[in-house]
Amino acid sequence: MFNMVVFGPPGCGKGTQSKKIIEEFGYRHMSSGDLIRKEIRKGTAMGQFLEKFISRGLLVPDGIIMKEIFRYWLRNLDTKGMVFDGFPRNLYQAQMMDRVFNKKGYDIELVISIEVPEDELIRRVIERGKDSGRADDNAEVMHNRLLVYQSQTRPVIEYYKKNKRLFAVDGQNPIEEVYAEIRQLIVDKNH
Ligand code: AMP
Repeated sequence: MFNMVVFGPPGCGKGTQSKKIIEEFGYRHMSSGDLIRKEIRKGTAMGQFLEKFISRGLLVPDGIIMKEIFRYWLRNLDTKGMVFDGFPRNLYQAQMMDRVFNKKGYDIELVISIEVPEDELIRRVIERGKDSGRADDNAEVMHNRLLVYQSQTRPVIEYYKKNKRLFAVDGQNPIEEVYAEIRQLIVDKNH
């Protein structure tokens, strides 16, 4: 099973690129944000709890998200591959992910960092907010999401750089060009 992470700030195109990867390579898509939004839509007590974080642009507590992610991964060890989109989001999540995966004899083999400047991210998220229906796709919450990204999520890049799993792509290029680069990185890793 091939495990990879698509990493980057809100609005960089993680979801778009992850979808293209799973379509071509037949991997599974694990989006932590989608998982949380699904729980919120169910209207459970847990959903209501999670909504308080997501609507403010804050990370939800590690334990809750990690339990769900690892459970899904463990249930799908027989699949060709998995693309993690939006997870890990801080150093603790990244370290725990390595620990859990290594224990089972697996590794995160590839981490793609999609790089886009902040002004472009803000423009994209506000544009997406016009029809995404997401309570966090607006200028005010995006401000917090970027602060959280800079302080908690960005340090994960250094963590992955240390063990040479990180590859950066320019997310300002057209979708198909970004994908062509990512695609090549996956092919190179698998052959
Ligand atoms: P996303 O769809 O990846 O932009 O995530 C939307 C929101 O879900 C984030 O702003 C967080 O509130 C929450 N979230 C997503 N992934 C994680 C994670 N790995 N850890 C904590 N919170 C997360």
